[in-house]
Amino acid sequence: MPFSTTGGDRVWSAAGDPHSAIVAVVEVRDLRKEFGEVVAVDGVDLRSEEGEFLVLLGPSGCGKTTLLRMIAGLEQPTEGEIRIGGEDVSRLPPRARRIAMVFQSYALYPHMTVANNIAFPLKAQGMDPEARNEKVEWAAGLFGIEGLLQRRPRQLSGGERQRVALARALVREPTVFLLDEPLSNLDAKLRAAARDDLMEFQRRIGITTIYVTHDQVEAMGMGDRIAVMDHGRIRQLGTPEEVYHHPADVFVAQFLGSPPMNLLETPGFLFGFRPEQFLPEGVAADEGTRVPFTFHVNRIEYLGSERFLYGFIREYDETRVIAMLPATVTLPISIDQDHKFSVAKDQLRFFDYDDGAKIAPQPLMR
Ligand code: ATP
Repeated sequence: MPFSTTGGDRVWSAAGDPHSAIVAVVEVRDLRKEFGEVVAVDGVDLRSEEGEFLVLLGPSGCGKTTLLRMIAGLEQPTEGEIRIGGEDVSRLPPRARRIAMVFQSYALYPHMTVANNIAFPLKAQGMDPEARNEKVEWAAGLFGIEGLLQRRPRQLSGGERQRVALARALVREPTVFLLDEPLSNLDAKLRAAARDDLMEFQRRIGITTIYVTHDQVEAMGMGDRIAVMDHGRIRQLGTPEEVYHHPADVFVAQFLGSPPMNLLETPGFLFGFRPEQFLPEGVAADEGTRVPFTFHVNRIEYLGSERFLYGFIREYDETRVIAMLPATVTLPISIDQDHKFSVAKDQLRFFDYDDGAKIAPQPLMR
């Protein structure tokens, strides 16, 4: 696939060849993977948008990595189909799938310079040195590591190594980027910076990206959409707003949010609300449309920007709940006492008692 130059910025040219278009849709149909008795991926249907940043989020062991490895071709599905850019790649080896994958451990070659690390896949393809150098410079430019090309990996910081790994993955002209917790080896500060870098780069180049993480903050901050997984299945696929505000079931409601959604039981169904929606009387403007509760507060945690109130709701069998008040709500709250709290009616979420699936709003009778 040739380079084209537009106004000084090098971009890949699709050149009318469907295989060279950089933006591809990834689609999996009824994908399943068994490891002996273990069902790691249990019938997943998923379709990315073009150029989307799609996050696979879920607890440890839910099948995220296995799903990604099947898309990459590193794991053979037990059943199902994988399509990249419209083509059935289920039986193609990884290198024929035009994907680039970056794992948690970047596995750079320690004895090679950064430039040679990045060039390595091109050399393996038999590309001539001049074209190779041009592409190395291009990829290094994208990640701002031009000044590091002659160093070796051990002379780099964690964040710089990560960028080298991304650059190396990118020179192969992938149509899809698959990332498996690529930031988890970095410390918190570096991780935030690397997250910004990665998102900026992804937006600039517009490559379809599938990103695995168990970190909901990363998922909410980075994903155009999030597929929330549990036990090998996708529980919900939606924008960060959708999965947070309109969870498809109790699992999603409680996996997202820190603290998670408060959940209460009443005859026939469950209902819930987010800790930040649970406010003391007199604070919210929409007083007329709010549902009142008696909140007995046991303990208060001051976290600077907010206060967490721990306690229980009298009307619902003393169910334990948490309220999160922003620092702008300065109302004094005393512990070991009942307080009048309320939730806006449209912020209540309702779930089926048996299977936990979202249901239509129900009247609350007490
Ligand atoms: P983590 O966030 O901990 O990496 P994950 O969501 O990526 O978890 P997977 O690594 O996909 O989960 O694993 C899904 C399930 O499949 C787990 O129960 C795991 O033990 C099992 N599993 C994964 N790989 C293999 C394997 N090669 N052999 C047997 N079982 C496996």
